[in-house]
Amino acid sequence: ERAREVLESAKRRDTNSLGVEAMDLLDAYGIPTPEGEIVDGETEAREAAERIDDGDGVVMKIVSPDILHKSDIGGVEVGVPAEEVADTYEDLVTRARNYQSDATILGVQIQEMLDLDAATETIVGMNRDPQFGPLVLFGLGGIFVEVLEDTTVKVAPVSEPEAASMVDEIESAPLLRGARGRDPVDEAGVVETIQRLSQLVTDFPAILELDINPLVATPDGVSAVDVRLTID
Ligand code: ADP
Ligand code: MG
Repeated sequence: ERAREVLESAKRRDTNSLGVEAMDLLDAYGIPTPEGEIVDGETEAREAAERIDDGDGVVMKIVSPDILHKSDIGGVEVGVPAEEVADTYEDLVTRARNYQSDATILGVQIQEMLDLDAATETIVGMNRDPQFGPLVLFGLGGIFVEVLEDTTVKVAPVSEPEAASMVDEIESAPLLRGARGRDPVDEAGVVETIQRLSQLVTDFPAILELDINPLVATPDGVSAVDVRLTID
């Protein structure tokens, strides 16, 4: 099983912290992710970008278990055009080294650039509570998650009606449903993702914590562009 393999390869690397290198885990559970590839070196980076770029450039992210908030250290560049991919690769590695000279660097992720104009960034996550067990969280994501604290939780496993009610419960629900002339996002896709994450963490008790932040929700669907987890 692909999901098991992701967790075992982290164990082999002797790390409890996983980032975008664990995208396959989401993929294995049918959670949509942008096209992406982790590369090692400028040449590989250029080749991957050529495959992935569909006109708006690519997104490049440092991949390191020692860097939890990539953009805080300048570890995320969006809309990188082909001619800047090699230099950006070097920049990202340099910034990571400046942040922590002995950081483990697994490479750089080259990711499809998503159009965020009609999108809302949400968060879907899980935290194991000593008393209640696995708590699944949903809310407004991206940079707003800490500022607005608009989130709600339910104990896993989360049924479909429960997942739907989580979307209902947040204060920003109207934002997802087309407030101010926006197009409503794919709410069914959000509800399904909450359930799939609930299933994943129920199947793998070794996952202690997991955050998809952001889960980008657009009128056309949802996409998990970032993931972070802690394993036992
Ligand atoms: P981190 O949370 O570690 O800083 P993210 O991968 O979440 O890194 O990226 C930070 C922000 O960059 C996201 O919240 C989103 O706004 C933007 N971003 C990330 N990936 C993409 C992408 N594939 N397309 C468009 N924007 C992206
Ligand atoms: Mg993030």
